[in-house]
Amino acid sequence: MTIQPAASPVAYRGRFAPSPTGPLHFGSLVAALGSYLDARANGGQWLLRIEDVDEPRTVPGAADGIRRTLEAFGFEWDGDVVVQSERIDRYHAGLVRLQLDGLVYPCACSRSEIAAATQIVAVDSGLVYPGTCRCGLGAGKAARAWRLRVPDREFSFVDRVQGRARQNLEREVGDFILLRADGQYAYQLAVVVDDAAQDINSVVRGVDLIDSTARQIWLQECLGLPTPSYAHLPVVVNAAGEKLSKQTLAVAVAPADGSAILARAMAFLGHTVPAEIQDLPVADFWRWAIADWSITRVPRVRAIFPGGDALSL
Ligand code: GLU
Repeated sequence: MTIQPAASPVAYRGRFAPSPTGPLHFGSLVAALGSYLDARANGGQWLLRIEDVDEPRTVPGAADGIRRTLEAFGFEWDGDVVVQSERIDRYHAGLVRLQLDGLVYPCACSRSEIAAATQIVAVDSGLVYPGTCRCGLGAGKAARAWRLRVPDREFSFVDRVQGRARQNLEREVGDFILLRADGQYAYQLAVVVDDAAQDINSVVRGVDLIDSTARQIWLQECLGLPTPSYAHLPVVVNAAGEKLSKQTLAVAVAPADGSAILARAMAFLGHTVPAEIQDLPVADFWRWAIADWSITRVPRVRAIFPGGDALSL
């Protein structure tokens, strides 16, 4: 199956979908800036969605902090901010539909049972689920989670930055979880339901999520939803090669740094930023950046260490 990049400039609808697991850091600023500029340069809309569906990872106050930081940097989103924790009924409805269609099944396996049953490591460093519960639960076993059946088929799409990407879901991922043992809906289900509900037709995000894209395309197919175009941006790594995140103790970006830090994010995405741009008020930065943006300049790599000096990574 081949998905062509599409989205006519007029109808472009993009989004930024941060998980509120900590403050906005340079890595998330890059994703916000790339998705924002691509939307605005295409005359499109840009929506903000808070992905707090994973309750245990959600940090109280982080969503507000991210919203305020984006605002202070001059990002302007269209419409109301969508908050995933307020939309659980939608994810439930999606799962029920898949249950009625016989596309999902309950799974009783614990992590250690899966580890014992397979040695194959999945693309995202988990284990390829060996399908233990595909044909029913073992005697005396209780359902812990719900999994989506995946086909032995290669999913292929043309990423606007990374080029053609391919993944065989059965061999490289296995049947994957939509409702977790702890009662939380999985990111894969929430993101597919919400991208469709918000009519998103252009997804621009970090390349760490490219290995989730085939899963999302398959879920869209199962739920009868359209597939957006995808562009996966390089991610920022620290000196140890780790993606910036709360776990790697990435520091918050400071809106007081204004255009200077926005200019660094833009340079990170392959654009040459004239020195004088860094001293402009952010409104002037955005005017320049929207006119200058071209996604064709974004480097086709997975990770970049940006030098670190003034960023205090
Ligand atoms: N919430 C995800 C994150 O912060 C991004 C999801 C997406 O863009 O699809 O990593």
